[in-house]
Amino acid sequence: MLQRFPQRVGILCLMLGWCAAGLFLATPVQAAEKLKALIVEGQNNHGIWPKTSVMMKQYLEETNRFTVDIVRTVPKGTDPAFKPTFKSYDVVISNYNGAAWPQSTQTSFMDYMKNGGGFVVVHAADNAFGDWKEYNEMIGLGGWGGRNEASGPYVYLDDQGAVVRDDSKGAGGHHGSQHPFQVVVRNGEHPITNGMPKAWMHEKDELYDKLRGPAENMTVLATAFADPAKGGSGRHEPMLMTLQYGKGRVFHTPLGHADYSQECVGFITCFLRGTEWAATGKVTLPIPKDFPTPNEVSKRPFEE
Ligand code: ZN
Repeated sequence: MLQRFPQRVGILCLMLGWCAAGLFLATPVQAAEKLKALIVEGQNNHGIWPKTSVMMKQYLEETNRFTVDIVRTVPKGTDPAFKPTFKSYDVVISNYNGAAWPQSTQTSFMDYMKNGGGFVVVHAADNAFGDWKEYNEMIGLGGWGGRNEASGPYVYLDDQGAVVRDDSKGAGGHHGSQHPFQVVVRNGEHPITNGMPKAWMHEKDELYDKLRGPAENMTVLATAFADPAKGGSGRHEPMLMTLQYGKGRVFHTPLGHADYSQECVGFITCFLRGTEWAATGKVTLPIPKDFPTPNEVSKRPFEE
């Protein structure tokens, strides 16, 4: 019996070896199935933007679920050479707030989205293209860029949690002083928010309020209260949104003003899950153990 025991250990080791070999063999298959993401940037009124593009690229690649390219326009004016092949990507992420894209690029982006593309709008990307009708249909709500009552209603939630579409006159886009604030999940059934705490603390950020736009085919997944004591609107403002545009899926978050805002584990998690959902309609990426709690911010200091 004593002599047979090492044999069994030997067989066990052999079996473990096969399993390990199987894992190694599976790796190239998984790599081929990685989702392809494109970050567009090049102009932004945020001094931090080249860094935030690098941060978002790294966050995506660290999941082992995405490969990421960054494409950049010229620093000023319409870039006639800016013609990304959108259809080569599962999802496009905008960190762009600048001059109009060439007409042919606008058309190819609209075609990409109508045919089932994925689009992620982060923070000041919703300031861009105030007069591009289809872009505003994709993002649902936007701020600045000449937006006013002609752009569509202000959209927010009232104290009972009902969506308000407010047609009153006025400019779109505003924020009070930066501060950490609580994000409240309003729809926990959606794949992006499923399993998230009902409320979580977000790191210091600009809390966009008074956004307005067509807001059609839009679902508000989470809001934040824009506290008048901080200069806010006194309304529950949309912070996580999904939209349908043609066959395309859009995830829009006004969060993410600065590098410190994007170090928030809440931001990172919503960004990753929102991007995966925009690309595939499903979410497999988990809510991590260091996700913020209702009263405590959780940050991961960014290291390249
Ligand atoms: Zn900002």
